[in-house]
Amino acid sequence: MKHIRNFCIIAHIDHGKSTLADRLLEFTQTVSDRDMQAQLLDDMDLERERGITIKSHAIQMNFVYNDETYVLNLIDTPGHVDFSYEVSRAIAACEGALLVVDAAQGIEAQTISNLYLAIGHDLEIIPVLNKIDLPSALPEEVSDQIVDLIGCERDSIIRASAKAGIGINEILQAIVERIPAPKGDPQAPLQALIFDSVYNTFRGIEVLFRVYNGEIKKGDKVKFVNTKREYDADEIGVLKLKQEARDTISTGNVGYLISGIKEAREVKVGDTITHVTRSGPAIQGFENVKPMVFAGIYPVDTSEFEDLRAAMEKLQLNDAALIWEPETSAALGFGFRCGFLGMLHMEIVQERLEREFDMTVITTVPSVQFHAYTTKDEMTKVNAPSDMPEPNYIDHVEEPFVRAQMISKAEYIGPIIALCMDKRGILKNQVYLTTDRVELTFELPLAEIVFDFFDRLKTISRGYASLDYELIGFRPSHLVKLDILLNGEKVDALSAIVHRDKAYDWGKRLCEKLRELLPRQQFEIAIQAAIGTKVIARETVKALRKNVLAKCYGGDISRKRKLLEKQKKGKKRMRQVGNVEIPQEAFMAVLKLE
Ligand code: GDP
Ligand code: MG
Repeated sequence: MKHIRNFCIIAHIDHGKSTLADRLLEFTQTVSDRDMQAQLLDDMDLERERGITIKSHAIQMNFVYNDETYVLNLIDTPGHVDFSYEVSRAIAACEGALLVVDAAQGIEAQTISNLYLAIGHDLEIIPVLNKIDLPSALPEEVSDQIVDLIGCERDSIIRASAKAGIGINEILQAIVERIPAPKGDPQAPLQALIFDSVYNTFRGIEVLFRVYNGEIKKGDKVKFVNTKREYDADEIGVLKLKQEARDTISTGNVGYLISGIKEAREVKVGDTITHVTRSGPAIQGFENVKPMVFAGIYPVDTSEFEDLRAAMEKLQLNDAALIWEPETSAALGFGFRCGFLGMLHMEIVQERLEREFDMTVITTVPSVQFHAYTTKDEMTKVNAPSDMPEPNYIDHVEEPFVRAQMISKAEYIGPIIALCMDKRGILKNQVYLTTDRVELTFELPLAEIVFDFFDRLKTISRGYASLDYELIGFRPSHLVKLDILLNGEKVDALSAIVHRDKAYDWGKRLCEKLRELLPRQQFEIAIQAAIGTKVIARETVKALRKNVLAKCYGGDISRKRKLLEKQKKGKKRMRQVGNVEIPQEAFMAVLKLE
């Protein structure tokens, strides 16, 4: 135990976490040069392309210090607000954290909230100023920020460049010197925290855990305390570049468990592993992850519904956070209502369906969960606008609120406050972190920030502002269901739940947007927005006069064919509602209302 160190890296996206991890693995010769490829820890193609770490992993290195060999367990954490619960469990598995700050960018909100999480768990913080090789680096200013923030000694900040390989040995030494060895009682009943799970097509779910007390042996009968399921520890081991099987994983150490688990859903991050006989209690802090954003996913080709179901089932095997159930829409036919952790998670699921399963899907307007009360205490959970009771049956509606922290340069706080006010926000606090960096705290409806809020925040602050938020509960709001009718027919997939004060404006802009997006047809299309039976906005798409092919009069046949091909392709993501054809963009138009 004396020779174990468990640590994670806290950093804002792009501040160099993955690059630094690569350097540490290289320096400790955990990977040979031949195996080294940039950003080793991001092993999913999609992650690499998006440059973010989606699922956390762990890797063990050996580091020789004063002639003694230390085992360093690096627990990788995801860096996006959508995955903050996973971050908190990874942090709980460590005694220390490297706080990596880009010397040219300074500290961001996401870094701060994860830092507070780490401090809350009593982690030893090792500040690392990364990218000091950049000409635009401001090491003195950013060091000031770090000292202000964590009250450390200025000279305890390690200056490094993950890219150029500067300061790597110093960081490894600091990990051994400053981070305490794990505590725990090897004789006590087993208590191991599950901080992640990884899906392997051949071997099923690999559960990653950190042993707090006791030890786990190959072949043990184990139990997951919160799910109450029992398994045989068929294989246990440590994670190097590859898995290395072991007979025992002892107190303080990190390892993996394979026990024939087939579905990610069976394994809950934050759960505790113990023995079936002589069992220990659950480790505190377990939460069931709840989806925050809901949307319908439908096959473009209605005959592919069963294929889509098979794809969703496969996806769910390795994505414990994805939930879904079958849903029918008058406009779109058979599909699935899905719950996601956030918008990024939704985009990832959609992209994986298309990339890994070759599905072409239509995604409907995302929405948060509302609570509609039909009497004072009879509540319906509204995950889709169609779940909303008729207006005259509603007593009141509640929506989820979040507390949002934003950090920005002082010069942008005006526009940021204006944006938050426009999003029905309530300013709670305003703190100067340094002379030119301000932290704003707002309470905001979740529905207002899950969609384009972050993009707009980035735009108005020229990329400087950062955001973090947490759910604080449901509050009553004046929400109404807004329907869209095309030639008098309600298109259920275009309905949305919006605040009453914004409904008129929303309806008007959505009608305008749809007028741009709906292709002209041989007849006129009336677009209407309505609340209940009351029409609040109307637009018209004029009838098409010319036949497209007329342009090619007498022209050569191949050009004509190309044009037809093009039309056919364009049709791929179209849906027929009554006699009107609706392109996919229309279903997502609400997201782009400006
Ligand atoms: P992550 O999102 O925190 O994992 O960040 P990455 O490790 O993916 O790094 C983001 C970008 O910064 C990449 O383009 C890296 O090459 C670059 N980068 C990382 N560390 C350094 C550094 O020390 N100096 C410079 N100049 N660039 C760096
Ligand atoms: Mg990364």
